[in-house]
Amino acid sequence: MATTPTWPGGKSAAVSLTFDVDAEAGWLGEGAEYARRLTILSEARYGVTRGVPRILDLLARHDIPATFFVPGHTAEIHDGLVQTLLDAGHEVAHHGYLHLRSDKVSATDQVEEIDRGLDALAKAGAPAPRGYRSTSWELTPETFELLVDRGFAYDSSCMGDDRPYVEHWEGQSILEIPVHWSLDDWPRFGWNIDGGGNVADPAEMTRTWISEFESARAEGRHTSFTMHPEVIGRPYRLAHLERVIEHMVASDDVHFARLDDIAATVAPRLLAAR
Ligand SMILES: [Zn+2]
Repeated sequence: MATTPTWPGGKSAAVSLTFDVDAEAGWLGEGAEYARRLTILSEARYGVTRGVPRILDLLARHDIPATFFVPGHTAEIHDGLVQTLLDAGHEVAHHGYLHLRSDKVSATDQVEEIDRGLDALAKAGAPAPRGYRSTSWELTPETFELLVDRGFAYDSSCMGDDRPYVEHWEGQSILEIPVHWSLDDWPRFGWNIDGGGNVADPAEMTRTWISEFESARAEGRHTSFTMHPEVIGRPYRLAHLERVIEHMVASDDVHFARLDDIAATVAPRLLAAR
């Protein structure tokens, strides 16, 4: 396939590294019973106390700007987290308030997830978020309409293409920067005593993600990877992420960008073609 450099710097591929800082909200949003499960909550907290600093060091080593999706609850209980991310030059985007799954709660609760999330990020010092990612990537018609109504520039929850595209619902549309389960750390490593992933060999992730990058490069595509600090922030897994990054950097053919920057780059072409 012909390579058409359309990304800044004449690079063939664009890559976004994205981190969902679910922290305790990732469990508390599953049910009130998690409030007394101190072990699982402590692993969630590890994502903020150990995972995020390691990730920030890695991104700084390679001078890569990234996008962090932060639930409002996480921003509230982890004082200074949002400011630390902003100070390092990263994007802070919307990931609900208590990480409630839109498909499992009422329309009223969906409004609260969006608006309390906006309030919490604002109180933590973040500029109005440009992007949104739904909990567990389950986007509903009600939340879709809220995103359009609240003026979000992009959503990053759907899988209808492997390039940025325009997602539609009943006459409304939003710029979509797609995701995929194969490009997510959680299905590989997100194990807990009740189930989940299978504590996979991180070398599989390295091979798969490098393959994805090379396919994006061949097609001149943007691609994004989704990670969770308590998962990818375990040292041996982060070492494998660094191998993926080193491969991309060595190609000298990649434009690393935050999702809001990707949205700004592709929006004129995609939204004009609607
Ligand atoms: Zn999440």
